[in-house]
Amino acid sequence: MFNKTKIVATVGPASNSKEVIKSLVLAGVDVFRLNFSHGTHAAHKAVIDLIHEVNDELDTHVGILADLQGPKIRLGEVENNSIELVAGKTINITTIPQVSTAEQLYITYAEFAHDVKPGNRVLIDDGKFELKVISTNGIDTVKAKVIYGGIVSSKKGTNLPDTHVTAPSLTPKDIEDLRFILKERVHWVALSFVRTADDIQRLRGMLQFENNHTTKIIAKIERPEAIENIDKIIEATDGIMVARGDLGVEVPLEKVPIMQKMIVNKCISAAKPVIIATQMMESMMINPSPTRAEVTDVANAILDGADALMLSGETATGIHPVRVIDTFRAIINEVEKNGDIYSKYDKGHGPNPKSPTFLSDDICYNACRISDDIGAKAITGMTVSGYTAFMLSSFRPKSDIFIFTTNDHYLNSFSLIWGVRAFHYTSFTTTDDTMNDIQQILREKGFLKSGDRMVITASMPLVEQGRTNTIKISVVD
Ligand code: ATP
Ligand code: MG
Ligand code: MG
Repeated sequence: MFNKTKIVATVGPASNSKEVIKSLVLAGVDVFRLNFSHGTHAAHKAVIDLIHEVNDELDTHVGILADLQGPKIRLGEVENNSIELVAGKTINITTIPQVSTAEQLYITYAEFAHDVKPGNRVLIDDGKFELKVISTNGIDTVKAKVIYGGIVSSKKGTNLPDTHVTAPSLTPKDIEDLRFILKERVHWVALSFVRTADDIQRLRGMLQFENNHTTKIIAKIERPEAIENIDKIIEATDGIMVARGDLGVEVPLEKVPIMQKMIVNKCISAAKPVIIATQMMESMMINPSPTRAEVTDVANAILDGADALMLSGETATGIHPVRVIDTFRAIINEVEKNGDIYSKYDKGHGPNPKSPTFLSDDICYNACRISDDIGAKAITGMTVSGYTAFMLSSFRPKSDIFIFTTNDHYLNSFSLIWGVRAFHYTSFTTTDDTMNDIQQILREKGFLKSGDRMVITASMPLVEQGRTNTIKISVVD
């Protein structure tokens, strides 16, 4: 048995060597995240090459997720890298590039003075500092009162939770990064600060224009508008990330736990993978073990039903990157052994009769039900589009899900999906031969032994590569 819940780890200075990448894969990382807010293309290229090298050496299919910065708003350089904002004082915020002082802050968002309204909050450095807009000239300067002040250093992130931000979700930097990413073998692209399904459609349009039909899209949920439009966004995207860092600044922090549960639930219903991100093992940036609260947060995210859990600074800059993964794995193992995370078909996640794919969805649903009934060791699926992999996983069967595909790229994409292991397979000939083959492959790899039960899903006739329409129960001979 494998872990069902997948692990995403961010690569940074603490983990960008071959040695650490290899140790992280051996410890259980399923997908590496590259954050395009940081680092050069050359540095990212070196990491991508190392991940592929390690995959080749270990015969693994670890995926790569490229995270685009999106319209992240920042302060520029501040005087002497340290200025004090004094509570109660009124200061200027300008969009004209300059070094910021305690009286005049420069903000990197050109439309700022146009988009804000009196009363809107300006939050700096994950909400540590707060200003309130008094007035704006509508062009380049805003007067604001400091509500919570303190010492501010250069390039801190800024959030405008009350403001309708008109900046496009794909910035010129993102487009440049995307051009680079599409030349590399990257399996998932994450879009930050998504507001509407249109943001996803625009990215998908660009992928299609580049004739790329295999790179899958993650929508990062971190804006209030994304919560309002969550159903349409889930429909448009291939996967979701609950980006709790910026989300916790953009919406009242106490709302984040319930939002997390709501989003996970909707993603399971829609058969789209969902990642929970930010501060899961934050104290392990320095400490050798996590806090009780962190262990409980990780366990609760698994119990909510997340496909994958993500580490940011813990593996990017922390001093115990591999130990963090060992700790993660221990929690995942324990919760998967004893937690009630399976058989979602009995918990309000049945197939939708109104869906155009209802018939094959219903096959996947019943395959999972049968598999749990008979205590099968494996459910197998064959897929060209990936659809069967996502659908089987969404019902959260107890047995492992083995997916056979002709598309090499998808072997790594599927590493993100709960419970799924993928294999390369090309000779889809007759149904009997292929089913025997699959059984043989799983036996040889040690996943099945004589007497084990398995549930095979297929599309008959195989050569037509249509939708899944067949379930077979088989006992390994
Ligand atoms: P985001 O809002 O996209 O999560 P972030 O700044 O919080 O941005 P993380 O990916 O969460 O970044 O990583 C945590 C920290 O690790 C970053 O603040 C940065 O200091 C460091 N880091 C991450 N990736 C890199 C990299 N490629 N090069 C250098 N430092 C990095
Ligand atoms: Mg972060
Ligand atoms: Mg972010």
